[in-house]
Amino acid sequence: MPPTNAPTGTPTRQHPLPVDALALGATARRIAALIAAGQRAQVVTLNPELVMRAQRDAGLAQIIRAARLVTADGVGVIWALRLAGQRIPERVTGVDLAATLAAQAAASGAPIFLLGAAPGVAQAAALALIQRSPGLRIVGCWAGSPHPRDDAEATARIRASGARLALVAYGAPAQELWIARNLPALPGVVALGVGGALDLLAGHIPRAPGWMRAAGLEWLYRLARQPWRWRRMLALPRFALLATASAAHVWLTCAPDAGILAVRDSTEDARAHEPRSESHDRP
Ligand code: UDP
Repeated sequence: MPPTNAPTGTPTRQHPLPVDALALGATARRIAALIAAGQRAQVVTLNPELVMRAQRDAGLAQIIRAARLVTADGVGVIWALRLAGQRIPERVTGVDLAATLAAQAAASGAPIFLLGAAPGVAQAAALALIQRSPGLRIVGCWAGSPHPRDDAEATARIRASGARLALVAYGAPAQELWIARNLPALPGVVALGVGGALDLLAGHIPRAPGWMRAAGLEWLYRLARQPWRWRRMLALPRFALLATASAAHVWLTCAPDAGILAVRDSTEDARAHEPRSESHDRP
């Protein structure tokens, strides 16, 4: 189970944050297996801004480390891993994972709840997903807020809906904190932080063209469309400096654990022997 009382706001510089070495399809299949097994689990889509937040927030770092799956949502994460001599198959973004999971759930019947985004956006995203994946069961949508005062209502709505997968769209790190805090009240639910994915799925914000994504420039497209992001993106040069320094440290000391990120062996055998962040909640 993820830590629920982990202190936040305290500086941290301990172990590297994990990133699972799984491609999009393999990540979705792993999540489907967790749902089928009735497990409760947190999935983090990690980007450089979240990594930088975790550098100064031990509670957040602990949440990321305890997550059942951590995907590289951000070309910077892949770049930083490469710099330190590590590789993962591909970038796995919240929006791609949400769409893939929806297509998969349409076949398996797993019910989904969409939490977060501005009022009405989750409903529009639900319609778009159902159009793409007929038969999909979206059993609830609620904007709510990431403020703890809404926790009880949000968890009651998700429980009452019978959802087994919750897509939580409060942006990072609010959604990661929300999931860690509320997962204990959500037996048998896999919760995934998806950032602005519902806005994209609803068509409220256009996605960067394929060539920009392939060139690792999605961040630039988002900045051009939403200039208010500049302040948040100040974390990127600081991330680049830290990643370079820690990669140099890894090469000099020959210690992979000296980096800020480390690829986690995601094969079934390796994970079977690991401490779990989730519990078996359903028969
Ligand atoms: N959001 C929300 N309530 C809040 C703050 C944010 O529902 O109090 C939603 C917001 O409407 C958007 C998402 O959280 O849908 C954050 O999107 P953003 O693109 O900023 O997240 P990122 O992908 O950059 O983490």
